[in-house]
Amino acid sequence: ELDTGFFVRWLTETAAAVDREADRLTELDSAIGDADHGSNLRRGFTAVTAALAEKPPPSPGAALGLAGRTLVSKVGGASGPLYGTLLRRTGKELGDAATVSRDDLARAMAAGVEAVTALGGAAEGDKTMLDALLPAVRALPESFTAARRAAAEGAVGTVPLRARRGRASYLGDRSIGHEDPGAASSLLLVSALERTWE
Ligand code: ADP
Ligand code: MG
Ligand code: MG
Repeated sequence: ELDTGFFVRWLTETAAAVDREADRLTELDSAIGDADHGSNLRRGFTAVTAALAEKPPPSPGAALGLAGRTLVSKVGGASGPLYGTLLRRTGKELGDAATVSRDDLARAMAAGVEAVTALGGAAEGDKTMLDALLPAVRALPESFTAARRAAAEGAVGTVPLRARRGRASYLGDRSIGHEDPGAASSLLLVSALERTWE
């Protein structure tokens, strides 16, 4: 069973990873976007850590909801509403239970990722964060490690793809040959989940 502390640690661990990797995320975004993905997420997740400390959430669902609302309000780029929707929808699915099972989380996160596809209109193979998130939630019922491996494979798999959504799609064929920044940051989120469990 996963309690509220687990979710707070997961989000805090994600914030630390984003902070460490922000320069690399921005570098990836400079190749096929506008060079702000690392700074966008660093600003957002720094605010998430502060919000969780200031107002300790009463449940796993509330922790994810607070994190999602914070990302929506602090991140100006496309990734803010998309990650915000992922976390808010996942949190909503978990409701107000004090503890949830790993199966509950797997189901809730699948619904969260589905909400991201509905919001952004992207499908697998469009070279977005979904290329890491969709394989990850498919593997999540097996284990957090399987989910992290699937996300890693998905992120690397964006390199040869041509972007069909978001800013990178304006580049057409010139988007080919670069890893998608959002897929790289999604791997950080899923890796943090694995580390929090261990
Ligand atoms: P912006 O493009 O507004 O500068 P960011 O740089 O923070 O925002 O985020 C870019 C990332 O957002 C992309 O690498 C991609 O993974 C993701 N993204 C953009 N548009 C979509 C979409 N429609 N659906 C899913 N993910 C998207
Ligand atoms: Mg950008
Ligand atoms: Mg931008």
